[in-house]
Amino acid sequence: MKQERLLAAELEKTVPGMRLLWDEPMSRHTSFRIGGPARLLVLPRSAEELKSAYLAALRLEVPVLFMGNGSNLLAPDGGLDRFVIKTFDGLSKISRTGENEVTAESGVLLSKLAVFARNCGLSGLEFSYGIPGTFGGAITMNAGAYDGEIGNVVAQTEYLDPAGEVVRISGKEHDFSYRHSIFSSGERLILRGKLSLRPGNPAEIQARMDELSARRKQSQPLELPSAGSVFKRPPGNYAAALIDRCALKGRSVGGAQVSEKHAGFIVNRGGATCDDVLRLIDLVRETVSRETGVELETEIRILSDR
Ligand SMILES: Cc1cc2nc3c(=O)[nH]c(=O)nc-3n(C[C@H](O)[C@H](O)[C@H](O)COP(=O)(O)OP(=O)(O)OC[C@H]3O[C@@H](n4cnc5c(N)ncnc54)[C@H](O)[C@@H]3O)c2cc1C
Repeated sequence: MKQERLLAAELEKTVPGMRLLWDEPMSRHTSFRIGGPARLLVLPRSAEELKSAYLAALRLEVPVLFMGNGSNLLAPDGGLDRFVIKTFDGLSKISRTGENEVTAESGVLLSKLAVFARNCGLSGLEFSYGIPGTFGGAITMNAGAYDGEIGNVVAQTEYLDPAGEVVRISGKEHDFSYRHSIFSSGERLILRGKLSLRPGNPAEIQARMDELSARRKQSQPLELPSAGSVFKRPPGNYAAALIDRCALKGRSVGGAQVSEKHAGFIVNRGGATCDDVLRLIDLVRETVSRETGVELETEIRILSDR
């Protein structure tokens, strides 16, 4: 607590007007609408502010959590004893930096990025249009849908390493694999990335985005708070199909429910706690393991309190 007070005092002095929030409910910042207060949360308005916040936290040894739009996070009910750095929506710059290249800061929403690329007549991001995360969150998770993955189009990423140094990596150095990248360990703060796209017809790009949006609306419970698919796809199978086969659709614990529309989603039907979601996850995993022999792994990020 003392270190966080020092951190806030330093930031208030060195970065006038920095948006710092004390005891800020994480339920306001996660798509699940779940989570107790984060001790201190910062909303940097630029990459420079982000750097100042991170470097000050490193100097004062305050534990940090990075987040984008909170659309893949389950935050604990008791709160987070951490300094949360949220990139959405302050790190919002996008520009065309080459004939087939777009550069964007980490807090830009994927939907905005896909529309920007379409306006430039660049194809390759259509798959990401309906994913409610930021570019930084997508790189971290190697977000993907409908046979596309962000790892297929990211050419270069610039980040701050755990010593506060700016590092640039390209291509294979990202170590992208299914819902994984070099950033998954949580120690590197993404500042911006470069996308390598291909020329396309804006009308055709829009038509593909509309088609995928319609498929999402039809198959996913977008009207209720969630964090998307809770479980990773097990090899050669689909988590949702296995959960459905075990007749778990609609099963509830407190306010958390296995979606009746898409068995891979857990939705917050109102007042769900983190504990409700965790108990429901355990119930699903145990039932699927017992009845099908498949061990489901979680895809969502379950945060611990420190
Ligand atoms: C309705 C719905 C549908 C979804 N559909 C899909 C889908 O089709 N495909 C898919 O892959 N996902 C899907 N998701 C999950 C989620 O949107 C993605 O995982 C997304 O990439 C997360 O981005 P975010 O900005 O919200 O990240 P957050 O949830 O804020 O964070 C996710 C992880 O990224 C890290 N992180 C975030 N920003 C940074 C940064 N700048 N530097 C370093 N680390 C960072 C966080 O520490 C955390 O570990 C869906 C979610 C919802 C609610």
